[in-house]
Amino acid sequence: ETRGVQAAADGDKFIDAHSAPACVLQDVACTALGLLKLKGYLSFHDTSAAARDFGLIKHLPPAAVLYPNSVEDVAALIRAVASSSTNLTVAAKGPGHSINGQAQADKGIVIEMSSMRGIKVMPHGDDDCALPFVEASGGELWVDVLEATLKEAPGLAPNSWTDYLYLSVGGTLSNAGVSGQTFRHGPQISNVLQLEVVTGKGEIVICSPSKQSELFYAVLGGLGQFGIITKARIIIEPAPEKVRWMRAMYSDFEVFKKDQEMLISAMQDPLLTFDFIEGFVVMNNEDPTNGWKSVPFSPDQITASMLPPDASSVLYLLEITLGYNLVDVGPVLEERVEKMLAPLNYIRSLMFSTDVSYFKFLNRIYDLVEVRSRALKLWDVPHPWLNLFVPASSITTFDSLIFKELFPVEFGGPILVYPVNRDKWDSRAATVVPDEEVFYLVAFLRNALPSGPGLASILEDNARILSICEQLRGKQYLPRYIEEAQWKQHFGADQWRAFVQHKQMFDPQAILAPGQNIFHRNP
Ligand code: FAD
Repeated sequence: ETRGVQAAADGDKFIDAHSAPACVLQDVACTALGLLKLKGYLSFHDTSAAARDFGLIKHLPPAAVLYPNSVEDVAALIRAVASSSTNLTVAAKGPGHSINGQAQADKGIVIEMSSMRGIKVMPHGDDDCALPFVEASGGELWVDVLEATLKEAPGLAPNSWTDYLYLSVGGTLSNAGVSGQTFRHGPQISNVLQLEVVTGKGEIVICSPSKQSELFYAVLGGLGQFGIITKARIIIEPAPEKVRWMRAMYSDFEVFKKDQEMLISAMQDPLLTFDFIEGFVVMNNEDPTNGWKSVPFSPDQITASMLPPDASSVLYLLEITLGYNLVDVGPVLEERVEKMLAPLNYIRSLMFSTDVSYFKFLNRIYDLVEVRSRALKLWDVPHPWLNLFVPASSITTFDSLIFKELFPVEFGGPILVYPVNRDKWDSRAATVVPDEEVFYLVAFLRNALPSGPGLASILEDNARILSICEQLRGKQYLPRYIEEAQWKQHFGADQWRAFVQHKQMFDPQAILAPGQNIFHRNP
């Protein structure tokens, strides 16, 4: 076994060619990897940790883990793998918040992207780009991007987020990056100015909408298949100091849907709509995770007598925010909020609101969910999550077939349901979305808790829900399929053809992101 990394006189580090475990790697690959001159290092120890992800469903350890210190390290590794081995694969890994082993490389090499750091905030742009931007390494977490931007360019921040910020820049840009700002700004992949990418051929390429644009759009939402994102330039825009964070309840799905769609249709008018629009299905019971007690900012603000007596097994929650600066505090702000809420048809006694800093709002899942779950030892449990995009024309059917029918009593995690505007998605990017102007993100974020339904039963439910979703022309987000035919169906004929062509162009040996289970390198 390798006994560590040797430091060369010039400060570079390399592994001892003869110390890699020959039983795992082919000899020739072993030698090629051993000859690599790296600024970071390659480790054959403790590779098991690199196979752990948030899902806790799959666990396929790699043979080695690269901790790169430069883009050249990443390129050199891929070139060595391409030239010396016929079966090794490489997976870039962020914090591993995938559900189904997407960032794993069975007996291959995992690149821990977090070892390459760097966030550069450019509030006035640079010679190439007049727009303000932040440039971050692919392994940086969004929470650090937010903190750095607010610190170095007060009043500016990226405009499109995910609900949870401890995800990596390269990880979400390989999928889409969706949250309550998507209706107005599009997903995170619609807000990227430029990428630095290492392709599956080991080439380092700077790409943007005007430079090497085919690679740029292939990589955005490309499930890691075409290149490893080592840097991304992200648009930054004015950000508020504070947000008014509001939660309003509904008992009628049609009314809830109509209000959500009305709000997102007014996206360009800040006087008519909010900055953030999401929705949830809430169980009509006292479950602390997703019953009605979970709705107010303090559970004692709600009692059973406040709920409509004729409500069905589920209720709906609209979550909205309005950003403001401290100088705006006063009657004008209050009048504005009142005016914006007036056309909505939520149950008037079931509206809850609080004011928090912009950072605290964006980081809410860490504070409200991760910290609490960890304290209760409920964070490190299997997470068989299912994310879908459902066309607006089918969402009512989805409500009656699934929300109301499948889970009448206990669910074990939140269910998200909120609409987005398709014209905010760039059709040149690789993410697959339904062919309809408005579609809903529907997320079943169920945790296999010791007290609740087991993993197998949740996976069975997921398969049933996915099948209904597909019949209703929906698409899986953060997709996971086993068979090639399923991938073809997911992409549709034209998008699949383009996806395969891009694979041939940018990763012809199918080295990258094997955990997505789309292409296979000599299994
Ligand atoms: P990983 O799991 O490490 O990797 C995911 C995939 O991307 C793998 O195939 C990997 O090989 C590839 N990859 C990783 N880094 C790179 C890179 N630099 N270049 C190329 N490919 C790379 N998603 C949303 O859209 N909205 C949400 O609100 C949201 N909330 C979430 C909340 C939680 C608690 C969790 C666990 C996940 C959430 N997600 C959300 C899903 C998240 O976007 C995905 O898990 C995504 O994969 C990012 O996770 P990661 O950075 O850990 O990537």
